[in-house]
Formats: sequence, structure tokens, C-alpha cells
Amino acid sequence: MEERILKMSSVILAGMITAALVVLSQFSVVNRKEAKREQMSDLQMLAFYTEQAEKKEDITFRQQLRLELPPDMTEDEVIIKNDYVKQLVTIQIPGVEKDYFSKHPLLGRSDSIDDLYMEKGVIEITLDAVYEVKSAVEEGYLYVDFLTPQQVYDKVIVIDAGHGGGAPGAIKQGIMEKDINLAIVLQLKELLEQCDRNIGVYYTRTEDINPTFEHRAQLGGKAKANLYISVHSNSTTDGQMSEYNGTEVMYDETKDKEGRSSKHLAQICLEEVTELTGSKNNGLTHGNGIYIIRNNEVPAALIETGFMTNQTELNKLVSSEYQELMAQGIYNAIMRALDEGY
Ligand SMILES: [Zn+2]
Repeated sequence: MEERILKMSSVILAGMITAALVVLSQFSVVNRKEAKREQMSDLQMLAFYTEQAEKKEDITFRQQLRLELPPDMTEDEVIIKNDYVKQLVTIQIPGVEKDYFSKHPLLGRSDSIDDLYMEKGVIEITLDAVYEVKSAVEEGYLYVDFLTPQQVYDKVIVIDAGHGGGAPGAIKQGIMEKDINLAIVLQLKELLEQCDRNIGVYYTRTEDINPTFEHRAQLGGKAKANLYISVHSNSTTDGQMSEYNGTEVMYDETKDKEGRSSKHLAQICLEEVTELTGSKNNGLTHGNGIYIIRNNEVPAALIETGFMTNQTELNKLVSSEYQELMAQGIYNAIMRALDEGY
């Protein structure tokens, strides 16, 4: 009896599978075109729909993206975020389902786009370098342009606050290096914002996060920056408190030493910082062993502001007055370097 039931159910099951296969195969024939389209990446879709639209509308898209917005949506409702460190631009269009983008496809061309991803309410654009995003809404269309930093600014610099997030750097008496570095960089940011020169400044971080070494190191090259400065605080090798104090600046000793080199930038930083802060001048240090120096494509200097392993210097490094002085010294170094043609 049991055997028979089993046999019966096998027959029914086999029948069901066959039926399902037939339906599936027909489905796939009917929807072959649809399926093919589904396999296209969002970036391929962009190219596909753009070509179609250019034929239909007698229009040419060049180095610009265009998206039809839902009716009544205003410019303020569209949120565009530009993560320079990751070269990732997100365009948020609230309330829009993913299939909106197949009914109202994103159109346009840009040589700067490496990858494109669309989901509910969001378009993610991975760029091949750092760009400034310019957007405008006209007659229900959102237009997006990507401008190189050099199209927007006279000079471009990158500032890196060492460590951050889960990577505290040195810790002395409960004080974390990452916090000192960030505090100095945020003071520097204020000074740079008041500067009347047209300088584009890109920061690897302005909060307590830890961008990867790759993202930090490549930012200079990705922004085609004129110079790159990294801010750290020092400790003795054994980490013990000691008399040893002062400022030193690291650069890549294996690269060009002539002209507007990393070495000369490091020298400028050393001179300006020690002059303003009164910190002891410990000279330049070889930095090729440090990832972000070795892998930097632009003139780069890493300032070890002072020793956290020296009690007097540690006390200074945590005071906002001294941090401001340090920031002013770095600011003076940046201005001098730009004056010297970096
Ligand atoms: Zn450090």
C-alpha cells in the first residue's frame, strides 16, 4: 500500500516537474528579450537607452547625465552625496521604485564613470577619479555634470588625519593619537576655509572613521593634487615615556629629490611648523616604509607633530591652543609650498 502511494506520488511529481519545465521553457522563449535585458549591467543599460534616445529624440548626450524626475519633485528633494575618498556619488530620489529607472531611464554619457548601480530610490555612481558634482533641475529633468577639481579650483590639496575609528594609533594615558591628529586637521580646515585663495581641499577624514590605506594613499593621485600632507603624532619605539621630543617630517627618500619634490615639501613643513610652534626640529625622516607615503602619486609629507611619549609635549598636543598653533604652522607650510609653485 505504502509502495503504491509512493509510486503514485512519484508519477505526480514527475508530471509536475515536466509541466514546470515546459512552462519555464516557454516563459524563457517569450521573455528571452526581457531576460537578456535583465543580464545587462546598469552601466550597459545606460549606454543602451542613451543610444536609443539619441536616435529617437535627435539629441546628443555628452559628458552629462539626465534623469526624468517624478512629476512635482523639486530640486531640494533630490539628495546628491559625493564621497571623494571612495569616489562614490549617490543620487537619492525618494519614493522611487527600481522599475522607475526602466520606465524613465537614466540617460547620458561620461568617460568618468567606472560603474553604475541602481536600486529603489538610489543611483550609485563609481567614478574613476575625484570629481566635483554639478547638478541642476530644468523642466522636470535632473542634469548631473562631473567636473575635475582643476576645472573648479586653482590649486588642489589633500589633508590626511592619521588613524581613526578602530585604529587609534598610539595611546598614552588614555589619550589616543587619532583624536590629536583629527583635532589639528579640523583646526587646519577652519583656517583653509577662511583662506581667500581658490584652493580645493580634500580630506581623507573629518570625523572618527578609518578609511583604508588604499583610499588614503590614492586620494592625492585621484584628485591630481598639488600636494598631500598627513598629520600624525609620534611615540618612541619602545613606547616608554622619555625626554625625547620634537617634530620630524617623513617623505619618500626613493623618489625625486629635486625641484617640487616630496623632500622639499617635507622641508617646508618642518621649517614652518617648528618655527611657529617652537617645537624642536628633529629633521627629515625616510618614509618609504610607510604605505601612504610609498604609494602616493603626488608630493607628500607626513608630519609627526610631536611626541606623545614626552609628558610636556603630550600636555601641549592635547591643548586646543597648541593644536591651533600646529594647524597654523601647517597652514603656513601649505601657503609657502603653493607660492613656490607646487
Ligand atoms: Zn601615527
